[in-house]
Amino acid sequence: MNIILLGPPGAGKGTQASRLVAERGMVQLSTGDMLRAAKDAGTPVGLQVRDIMARGELVSDAIVSALIGERLDSLKEEAGGDTGPGVIFDGFPRTAAQAEALDLLLAERGQQLDHVVELTVDEAALTERIVGRYTCAKCGEGYHDRFKQPAEAGVCDVCGSTEFKRRPDDTAETIATRMAIYRGETAPILPFYDARGLVAQVDGMAEIGQVTQAIESILDR
Ligand code: ADP
Ligand code: ADP
Ligand code: ZN
Repeated sequence: MNIILLGPPGAGKGTQASRLVAERGMVQLSTGDMLRAAKDAGTPVGLQVRDIMARGELVSDAIVSALIGERLDSLKEEAGGDTGPGVIFDGFPRTAAQAEALDLLLAERGQQLDHVVELTVDEAALTERIVGRYTCAKCGEGYHDRFKQPAEAGVCDVCGSTEFKRRPDDTAETIATRMAIYRGETAPILPFYDARGLVAQVDGMAEIGQVTQAIESILDR
């Protein structure tokens, strides 16, 4: 089962993907995470995308499509040529060209898309979600200043680390750019999937656990 989680920045795509990974053993492919890893490692791709990401703009379709293709190949290899446990695409595709590229990448590997889950959110809530977001520096678990605090203050629930980090692009300044790009380039790919009967909407303003339940019921039907 291969699914896309689609929604604006801060909608909860990463949060929901990691819960589906834990509960279903699916694999999360987040182009944002891959690009941040490339940036932190100082690879040629990382150097190329650093400033674009800092501004909240999109990196090129070719770069992200290549990253996804490489990851699909290594997953297939790990699963011994099998289709594996299923993939959650988080933050990809973000443009019509990426949506077309994904169709091709999947078809070439004998796979297909099963669901596109659109997380619908109140735009006014997104700024607070984004500026309050932070993650564990060791294991990557996501938190929020108000909406998802660790059980013990300053200690990661998952791995016990006391080091946390915030994304340099999670600032009030980039949010307007990122939202405008979502509206102008990403939301328009929904009709492309809707025409194939793949889109299901989930209320992303509900509590984190309720959102997960709503997604699970779509995957199970
Ligand atoms: P995205 O991957 O779509 O950009 P995230 O999953 O990183 O979004 O969520 C953004 C922030 O909002 C995180 O700090 C997360 O803990 C918090 N969050 C996610 N889902 C919810 C929710 N349903 N209600 C309240 N806060 C949420
Ligand atoms: P969010 O869900 O908060 O928007 P992501 O972690 O998905 O953040 O992406 C962070 C940044 O990485 C984006 O603002 C963009 O610069 C870049 N990026 C991630 N995925 C893509 C993609 N599919 N196409 C182009 N740029 C991307
Ligand atoms: Zn941790």
